Amino acid sequence: MRLILIGPPGVGKGTQAALLQERLGLLPISSGDIFRAEIREQTPLGVMAKSYIDQGLLVPDDVTIGMMQGRLSRNDVREKGFILDGFPRTVAQAEALDGVLAHLGLGLSGVVAIEVDDEIVVSRLGGRRICPNGGEIYHILTNPPRVEGHCDVCGTPLMTRPDDNESTIRERLKVYHNSTRPVIDFYQAHDQLVRVDGSQEPEQVYEQIVTELPG
Ligand code: AMP
Repeated sequence: MRLILIGPPGVGKGTQAALLQERLGLLPISSGDIFRAEIREQTPLGVMAKSYIDQGLLVPDDVTIGMMQGRLSRNDVREKGFILDGFPRTVAQAEALDGVLAHLGLGLSGVVAIEVDDEIVVSRLGGRRICPNGGEIYHILTNPPRVEGHCDVCGTPLMTRPDDNESTIRERLKVYHNSTRPVIDFYQAHDQLVRVDGSQEPEQVYEQIVTELPG
């Protein structure tokens, strides 16, 4: 299965991608995670991307498309199927993705739009904590780790993403409404869209996704 998850920051795309990986064996591909890995390694791409990410802005399309084209061309993508999390975020990226997949001879199984109110996003992201080692996602109120501040899986101290502060969250939401919502219309027009209510618990969101996807 080859899926795209679209939705505002903090709607739970990463959580759903992890569930789809665990239960269906799909490969999660997160453009944000790839950028963060490049930043950690201080590559030229990472240094450039960081200046946008820290402001809550989108990394330019040509850079993002080139990076994702490289990732999608690897063999594991063809073997396992994938869940794209955070890409495409603009209509230009969606059009480029169509071309990349056509070139690879791969079709999309479906596009899932997970939707939620902006204020829920602000409160969710303000309390989000991430394991810098394995990427596990926690929330200080709704999904706390067993030992405060440490990952349940590996014990590593949890971190707050630098772009999870309120002013950057609001900028990311503005960017989402202006640039990414048109991507939902793009896939709606191509009849590939399933809409899911992201205010539900993760298990309910997951159920809705697998129930409503075609096939
Ligand atoms: P995410 O982890 O998906 O919330 O992404 C974190 C940040 O990485 C975003 O706020 C953007 O600055 C950047 N980013 C991730 N994916 C994309 C994309 N498809 N296009 C442009 N910028 C992106």
